Amino acid sequence: MVEEKELKLGLDSDEAEKRLETYGPNILKQKKKVSPVFIFFSQFNDFMVWVLLGATLISAFMGEIADAITIIIIVVVNAILGFIQEFKTEKSLEALKNLAAPTTKVIRNKKIQVINAEFLTLGDLVVLEAGDRIPADGIIVQGTGVIDESLLTGESVGVSKSTLNKENKIYMGTILLKGKVLARVTEVGMSTEMGKIAHMLSSIEDEKSPLKEKLEGLGRILVIVCIAICIIVTFVGISRGQKASEMFLLGVSLAVAAIPEGLPAIVTVCLAIGVSRMLNRNALVRKLPAVETLGCTSVICSDKTGTLTENKMTVKALYFNNTLYNIDDNKTPDNLLLKKAFVYCNDCNYDYSQKDIEKGLLGDPTETSLIKTYFKGMKDIKEFNGDIRRVYDIPFDSTRKMMSVVIEENNRECCYVKGAPERLLSRCNQILINGQVVAFTYTLKEKVAKSIEDMSSKALRCIAAAYKYKNIAKNNSLENDLIFLGLAGIIDPPRKEVKDAVLECRMAGIKPIMITGDHQNTAFAIGKEVGICNSINEVLTGDEIEKLTEKELDSKIDKTKVFARVSPNHKLRIVRAFKRKNNIVAMTGDGVNDAPAIKEADIGIAMGISGTDVSKEASSMILMDDNFTTIVAAVEEGRVIYNNIRKFIRYLLSCNLGEVLTMFLASLFYLPNPLSPIQILFVNLATDGLPALALGVDPPDKDIMDDKPRGKNESIFSHGLMEKILVRGTLIGICTIFAFIGGKYFGYDLAACRTMALSTLVLSQLIHVFECRSEKHSIFKINPFTNIYLIGAVLVSVIMLIAVIYLPFLEGIFHTSSMNGIQWMVVIFCSGIIALINSIYLMIKERHK
Ligand code: ATP
Repeated sequence: MVEEKELKLGLDSDEAEKRLETYGPNILKQKKKVSPVFIFFSQFNDFMVWVLLGATLISAFMGEIADAITIIIIVVVNAILGFIQEFKTEKSLEALKNLAAPTTKVIRNKKIQVINAEFLTLGDLVVLEAGDRIPADGIIVQGTGVIDESLLTGESVGVSKSTLNKENKIYMGTILLKGKVLARVTEVGMSTEMGKIAHMLSSIEDEKSPLKEKLEGLGRILVIVCIAICIIVTFVGISRGQKASEMFLLGVSLAVAAIPEGLPAIVTVCLAIGVSRMLNRNALVRKLPAVETLGCTSVICSDKTGTLTENKMTVKALYFNNTLYNIDDNKTPDNLLLKKAFVYCNDCNYDYSQKDIEKGLLGDPTETSLIKTYFKGMKDIKEFNGDIRRVYDIPFDSTRKMMSVVIEENNRECCYVKGAPERLLSRCNQILINGQVVAFTYTLKEKVAKSIEDMSSKALRCIAAAYKYKNIAKNNSLENDLIFLGLAGIIDPPRKEVKDAVLECRMAGIKPIMITGDHQNTAFAIGKEVGICNSINEVLTGDEIEKLTEKELDSKIDKTKVFARVSPNHKLRIVRAFKRKNNIVAMTGDGVNDAPAIKEADIGIAMGISGTDVSKEASSMILMDDNFTTIVAAVEEGRVIYNNIRKFIRYLLSCNLGEVLTMFLASLFYLPNPLSPIQILFVNLATDGLPALALGVDPPDKDIMDDKPRGKNESIFSHGLMEKILVRGTLIGICTIFAFIGGKYFGYDLAACRTMALSTLVLSQLIHVFECRSEKHSIFKINPFTNIYLIGAVLVSVIMLIAVIYLPFLEGIFHTSSMNGIQWMVVIFCSGIIALINSIYLMIKERHK
């Protein structure tokens, strides 16, 4: 509770700005950024590119100057394309880092504000709560906190610090585990203890994506295969009396074109694009590989409060004097001591404006609802509080599920406690009824229990209140021998959109699970409303979990849809049990204690609004709006991205196979080379870069959420992708050879035949790119205009092809010749026929399904 006098002690924004200028921003020096120049030159850091440049140099010495220049231009253009891709990736990752920058609550202009921790300065008063990472060095001026300083000292046991202790210094980067403190900033940025040891705290981790690693492995195999084929092609050519230098250049060009060196890079670009697409849907991905794993999610364990529900709480019922009162809008039945318990034992900040309250800034929504039941305006609260003084408190935590305060009131200390009813009831031995404190008999307890049943089965979350004014020891025994006061029943309606999202999960073969600290009846009622569960037998409570062995838990986990009255430590057991059953688990959490479960889950999800810094740091994804629907949207995006990666892998590999086979088949059948080295490099330039990238941003297939989740270790080539690549690649090669032979058959010279082969190879790839958009549907079923980038990329490639064929200046460089009607007919037939047959086959197959 920040009091008025403290609010006055904060800086005003003018002063803060001045100090910010004097002392600098509160940041630790960043890792050196990778410079764009470095990124550009690293594009040439490729063995095959060096070999190509070497071969070019040799051919230049032999007089092929024009060829050499063209090859160098093509290599540079390729490098520029690679640079753009990589630079964009770096930029978007950097933007994400800024987004994930830590914020902090500070008192400025007599108000609590949330600011970016970077703008903290000396003298600022920061408000810190359990789970917060301490944003700068400072001194505690109010409150008590337990602090984890392991980052600085290596000591994992929390240290208790307060104004009363000598130990009142707190340090940047350490974590407030318990309590709530107000602290004045004494050092910022590199002058902090943390700055002195120059420890870097990165908010985004650049982890390697497993898919990227696998593709790098595949890439190495492909390099060997490609080089072997190129050597064969070269030697066959030489043995047939072709010029050795030309054959060498041809072999190297073919290797450069055929090796999909850009594959891992495009995967990163694709994942990074996915990250920004997810951000548009309110999911901030902190670890790139998470994008990949998201698509495999088979279980989503979600908190209830705020994620499945709106976190807009309203008290609907009060119970005291053995009577249950329903509350309508204007009337709250008054009971002074119950009111005192709910209002005094409350951490809401009374100095917020009405707007802040709407935004949820007042404090914990459960506590806000209690305040709002009794008071309309802030003035009333201050009047009611009078000059009471809080002398001691034990803060709320989700494991104990209660909180207590000791208040000094009229020179007398009194303790008020509120919390989950079961926890409180067992600590009460007396009850207040109509102003009389009487023994809390079995019958009276039964009555209270009945009211709890009633309220919770109507989806109300119950909070009990108690008090005592004797034997006030300021330790854990404070919460014993209490006098029971009454109950509040609070409604927190489910979010409207959740029901559809739950249904979508089911359709997609994903199991939605609710995990909550609330009573089983409340949890069941909400779960039923949103479609997560049907029967109370699908609910397992924390107490039950406690009694189960791991084996027993495993046998129950498949049938359980709701976990109620759980503590954060149960979450870890739940995640592990689901994982043992071969599930890919997404798990949400917000508190400090949730961090281990978040870390253990395949996808750990933290709450952007209500989450603590610790939970955010443990997570791989943050929900900016705390909404369950966002998780489902992120899973969908994960699937879309994986599918798009499959699309361009299919495209790139079948095209490259087509290119290699064209040359290989020609040498096998003793044909002249159907393409010159420059032409091969041109094909690579025209077809590999832009169209593949455009596939990476392909919009989702409509039925993407109708399939079961894929297995985490499933190969990227599963479900027949490898066969598709092999068959289609071979056919591209055969069709190109056919066009080449066709040219010969009609009596055209070598340059004309090569132009026909070149056009067929390019066009069949540009047609194939549209086929790659779907593994199930024919090209006639997919609207080409849903991916404008692809249309644009294909147009650019077609224009490049036409320019190379018809511009006299380029004709000379690329050794091509203008094509006539007959030639075009052969080319169009050879490039389109396979796609046509395949589409008809797919349409017939779909009709007979
Ligand atoms: P989840 O977010 O996981 O769905 P939850 O937020 O409902 O769970 P907790 O916040 O741990 O779970 O609350 C558990 C129980 O503790 C509640 O049902 C309520 O009885 C009690 N409780 C909640 N907030 C407070 C509070 N501020 N003071 C006292 N008791 C509380």
